[in-house]
Amino acid sequence: MAKIMAVNAGSSSLKFQLLDMPAEKVITTGVIERIGMKDSIFSIKVNGEKINETSDIEHHGEAVTILLKKLIDFNIIQSFEEIEGVGHRIVHGGDVITDSCILDDKAVELLESIIDLGPLHLPANITGVKAFKEVLPNVLHIGVFDTAFHVSMPEEAFLYAVPYEWYERYSVRKYGFHGTSHKYVSHRTAEILGKKPEEVNIIVAHLGNGASLCAVKAGKSVDTTMGFTPLEGVPMGTRSGNIDPAIIEYMGIKKQKSVKEITNTLNKFSGYLGVSGISSDSRDVNDAAAKGNHRADLAIQIQAKRIADYIASYYVYMGGADAIVFTAGIGENAPSTRENIINRLAVLGVKIDRERNNCRGIERLISTDDSTIKVFVVPTNEEVMIARDTLRLTHQ
Ligand code: AMP
Repeated sequence: MAKIMAVNAGSSSLKFQLLDMPAEKVITTGVIERIGMKDSIFSIKVNGEKINETSDIEHHGEAVTILLKKLIDFNIIQSFEEIEGVGHRIVHGGDVITDSCILDDKAVELLESIIDLGPLHLPANITGVKAFKEVLPNVLHIGVFDTAFHVSMPEEAFLYAVPYEWYERYSVRKYGFHGTSHKYVSHRTAEILGKKPEEVNIIVAHLGNGASLCAVKAGKSVDTTMGFTPLEGVPMGTRSGNIDPAIIEYMGIKKQKSVKEITNTLNKFSGYLGVSGISSDSRDVNDAAAKGNHRADLAIQIQAKRIADYIASYYVYMGGADAIVFTAGIGENAPSTRENIINRLAVLGVKIDRERNNCRGIERLISTDDSTIKVFVVPTNEEVMIARDTLRLTHQ
């Protein structure tokens, strides 16, 4: 048995999960929030019970030191040597890192060279890697990339119809994100169907605060909705998804704002939040819509329409699909959203079973027996994918 740590570092948070591999058993899980602020919160699950502690944690290095000390204090490990590898979720590998890899100094330098491609997330990911490497210098650190699963997209799917030089000189192309989730969910669905990933075509709808869909043909991503950045595709909690790009200049003039400020509005104040004016959280928006709030209902319908549009286009693009799969916070927990989307696809002969669909957070078939395409809920598990690759690369 090997103990592997899966880490997801954000700008002010650090999520972790310690797993026993290859059994894929979760030993503990937790998060450190408000790093760099007053009253940082450290939470960890010990014997199934959640423990919260508050202190001032100034930076990621301190967060990592505290986390490891707590693992010993709570008797979860006896010494740091027990941790055989640390897997880091990294948002972007650009076109320089296209698969999980050992994060040696050269790989970290490569990541630093593409910070422009992921300015909102990459700096935090790199800070997390450096902090862990400093505290655990004798352990192998592995990067698992959100973009990696999508390297199989064909040129016609990943290139934008812009001057080709933008791609050649500035790496402007669709990269796609949530790749670790799309890979886990699509391959797990193949398993549920009793098939190999190469034998099936699957459409994955990862619907969380961030949302993207993926067309997985014969086990490989052939198209996905997020693009050069996570802003492209379907509307999300706070992101607009696709808009006419000319709106950016127009609204810049109207609001006397820079391109950067308008882009920030598209990233942080659009989607559910922008349309409803209520919240970015689907629960709040659903509650308001149920009470008759028109804008809340519109936020939901705009998103459902765009999601259904993509599913239909991926169905055609792949020449059919064996399954449509819902995952992530909304996909796993919101029966009404799933029903709304599938009902829009009735012309394909896909049918939801309302009773089966009345479930949250579990793996389940939710279509009727006579549905032309099977529909599933499959909870995502990015941590296990990170731990699998970390185990593989630390033992090669
Ligand atoms: P994620 O980014 O995957 O953590 O998903 C976050 C989203 O999932 C938020 O919009 C939540 O409102 C939504 N979500 C979580 N639990 C539920 C639930 N029980 N019902 C509806 N939406 C939920």
